Amino acid sequence: MAEIFDPKPVEEKGFEIDERILKLAEKAEENCSAAFAETDRIARLNGEKVLRAFINNKVSAACMTGTTGYGYGDVGRDTLDKVYADVFGAEDALVRHTFVSGTHALTCALFGVLRAGDKLVSLTGTPYDTLEEVIGLRGSGNGSLKDFGVEYDQVELLPDGKPDVGEIFKKVKDAKVAYIQRSRGYSLRPTLTLNGIAEIVKAAKGANPDIVVMVDNCYGEFVESKEPLQFGADLIIGSLIKNPGAGIAETGGYIAGSKKLVEQCAYRLTCVGMGKEVGCTLNQNKLMYQGLFFAPEVVASAVKVATFTSEIMTLLKFECFPKRDEKRGDIITAVLMKNADNLTAFCQGVQKGSPIDSFVTPEPWDMPGYDSQVIMAAGAFNMGASIELSADAPLREPFAAFVQGGLTYPTGRMGILVALQEMFERHCLRLF
Ligand SMILES: *Cc1c(COP(=O)(O)O)cnc(C)c1O
Repeated sequence: MAEIFDPKPVEEKGFEIDERILKLAEKAEENCSAAFAETDRIARLNGEKVLRAFINNKVSAACMTGTTGYGYGDVGRDTLDKVYADVFGAEDALVRHTFVSGTHALTCALFGVLRAGDKLVSLTGTPYDTLEEVIGLRGSGNGSLKDFGVEYDQVELLPDGKPDVGEIFKKVKDAKVAYIQRSRGYSLRPTLTLNGIAEIVKAAKGANPDIVVMVDNCYGEFVESKEPLQFGADLIIGSLIKNPGAGIAETGGYIAGSKKLVEQCAYRLTCVGMGKEVGCTLNQNKLMYQGLFFAPEVVASAVKVATFTSEIMTLLKFECFPKRDEKRGDIITAVLMKNADNLTAFCQGVQKGSPIDSFVTPEPWDMPGYDSQVIMAAGAFNMGASIELSADAPLREPFAAFVQGGLTYPTGRMGILVALQEMFERHCLRLF
């Protein structure tokens, strides 16, 4: 007699998450449905834009291989610059794995464009922590912009996140570069959307038509369906271990904008006269192409995880920025954790729910470039990649955890639930 095939169901090795947290997650997800639909709409537009740029620039199999040595005539590198330029609405771009970080790319842009005696004005308050030393706000005699004779000033955003047009007018009149940070970074200021950037650019160029508007685009790429250059900015800069690398690019950064400005930055990255013509790509080209190709979808996953996090934490009575339905300018959700214990439990929980190094416990440490201790959960394929699920937090008032990433929605969502379970078990969470 023929045996009847009885497929044994694969044993479900679930996560041990409290029923009440799971229920809350379901509710949060329901509440996010409109926001998720909008995220999918944006991802489609961006995906089409990226595919169009690949086709228009005739990306070929030859582009996937790299060069060694000087890297003369690297067709993959030169074509990737064109693809990035198209996607971001730029004349030219400089996409290199030799940018060691976003800060390095930003530094290259600042030193590439500014000269002794010039003035730099930040129009979005104090820039991201790591730039303070670059500008010369902390330390001296170390080769900062200030050491090289570049003056610095800043204009705060108004409390509602709108530009202070009067102050901008006063301070940019004699400035060479106006600097805008798109993402909130480690601050709780309202998210800057592209419309917000357009308003700031209009104010700055109204007062000084020759001013170069530089945008720190970190965490902002593909969150909306356009980019800052299409709203009047002259130069955008970002990191490849964030949005545009999609967790696939292993390192690197990019600068995009007008041909002239990009050339000045390339002269700073390599040498005057050589610029973009040199720089071998080793085995990085394919990863950078693939990263860009996946980026719209991966950014959408990260935005959904961020939206979900904001909603479930709000249901648990933690204040979050931005709220579920607020228009997003970046992939970050800031959660006010109220105290250091909650913050530490949450970050350590996120690490437990990460694919890599789930078994290690992150501790607060003195990270280079930051002036308070920072705890960082980052169980990522690429070290420190924050397009992957990650939670970082400077250990200072108001104990905000900055959550970002999630290469896929299901894994990012579960990472957050593991973190909530950790908080619950450490008596940092009340369930009712
Ligand atoms: C990540 C980031 C940077 C650059 O940081 P790196 O860690 O050097 O890549 C700069 N500005 C903002 C707003 C960022 O989020």
